[in-house]
Amino acid sequence: MPTTKEPVQTAHAQTANTQTALIPISVVHGDGIGPEIMDATLRILAAAGARIAPQEVRMGEALYREGFTSGFVPDAWDTLRQTGVMLKAPITTPQGGGYKSLNVTLRKTLGLYANVRPCRAYAPYVPTHHPEMNLVIIRENEEDLYAGIEHRQTREVMQCLKLITRPGCEKIVRYAFEYARANGRKKVTALTKDNIMKMCDGLFHTVFDEISAEYPDIQAEHQIIDIGTARVAAKPEQYDVIVTLNLYGDIISDVAAEVAGSVGLAGSANIGETFAMFEAIHGSAPDLAGQDAANPGGLISAAALMLGHLGQHEIAAKVQNALLCALEDGMHTRDIAGPHTKGLLGTQGFADAVIERLGRVPQHLPAVTADTQAKAMPIRQPVEPAYIDKQLVGTDVFFEWTDSGRDPDALAAILQEAQLRNVPLKMITNRGVKVWPGGLPETFKSDHWRCRFLSESPVTHAELLALLTRIHEKHLDFIKTEHLYTFDGQPGYSLGQGQ
Ligand code: NAD
Repeated sequence: MPTTKEPVQTAHAQTANTQTALIPISVVHGDGIGPEIMDATLRILAAAGARIAPQEVRMGEALYREGFTSGFVPDAWDTLRQTGVMLKAPITTPQGGGYKSLNVTLRKTLGLYANVRPCRAYAPYVPTHHPEMNLVIIRENEEDLYAGIEHRQTREVMQCLKLITRPGCEKIVRYAFEYARANGRKKVTALTKDNIMKMCDGLFHTVFDEISAEYPDIQAEHQIIDIGTARVAAKPEQYDVIVTLNLYGDIISDVAAEVAGSVGLAGSANIGETFAMFEAIHGSAPDLAGQDAANPGGLISAAALMLGHLGQHEIAAKVQNALLCALEDGMHTRDIAGPHTKGLLGTQGFADAVIERLGRVPQHLPAVTADTQAKAMPIRQPVEPAYIDKQLVGTDVFFEWTDSGRDPDALAAILQEAQLRNVPLKMITNRGVKVWPGGLPETFKSDHWRCRFLSESPVTHAELLALLTRIHEKHLDFIKTEHLYTFDGQPGYSLGQGQ
């Protein structure tokens, strides 16, 4: 199987090998507390000797207000693609319709498939109930409900499409195992909801089982997301690397950051094959903006991840150790203040405290070295086209229908008049629950009906079009169809609940 275990040799890595050149990076100062924490972080990077040449890119609230619904001007793509790497402060997304999430656009357009969030405790210096916690969440970043494909289908029903692809699962799961190996981690836990979403989440679980077999040196386990989230909150020290789908990862990474001690201290990397974006996990905290009160630690941690990505491992370790020294010495911003606080500092004062400690290593918290420093690296992804026999065997037709007291038998009677002999009506569901044949009167019925026409043998599109024409002649409002296929003889559709 054509896997490549080595990190891609990017232009950055090649340039970094020279040890001298300044590497251009895109920098976004962001909104709210963004400009303050970015200034603090860039001062630390300059003092640490980071070999970077920041190039400002305008993004965020002001541009939304100027009418750019994406939050940035289209020209920004050129700068981003030239630099290949971005350090980004948080952006305020204006409330109300019409504004697209800038982060989702950046992640998907630039192919940033892996969101990497290390979450560790800094006990006893930052208060936490879980001093042993040290986990990394690797979240799939491009798929799932974040496709943003939503429709109002009937007067009563909205739909959001959850799209999970095999290549997407393969990319993120392989990334998680490669990350574990590169960072000396021992276990990868997959979190899914495949007891309910047997096809979408089931695919993620299947791919996890397949790929984990290639990494016998790493322990692999799977948990259902609900118990997994509860355990991350209650016993986070049991986890090492977590890999999960987009929405679950979004939620669980905030849970983990909060449990670790402060959302203000965690950084994240968004990794693609040719581009990487680094940012704090928190938002723009408008309540703290302009008060010199925000903790810049999250962006500093993100910047250290970026330096590692650029091949500047020594400087990355130097920045991280100085940050740990400041925490250990009780130099704290308000959000992490506790019994060990000796100096309550503002954003810039905290940055000064980190700068003063550059070159020192922590005495109690584990020091970071160029080798132990977290590596969020791009990896080449295998492409494995495999022949799969696909046959069309029927269609699910969805209706808006409220006649006859919403009696499914009445709807079935009309549809049986319209059905083709070889593509008969097999089942009607309402919100996924089978209501015909043999439904119960207790089942709630919305105005949204899914009616399954299924053949014993392959059918043609022309036959399905004929079926739809006959349905149309019955004056029924069919709102969409979803064709039914078998793949290598296996049904590519779920059963109705209760079927
Ligand atoms: P938030 O993370 O901005 O704030 C949540 C809470 O955490 C607030 O009480 C805030 O004061 C505190 N907090 C956050 N960062 C802190 C720091 N560095 N130091 C100390 N305290 C900190 O989340 P929110 O209030 O839900 O969102 C505010 C805005 O940020 C929204 O417009 C949202 O869309 C945006 N946002 C942007 C990003 C991003 O750009 N990556 C991520 C999340 C939210």
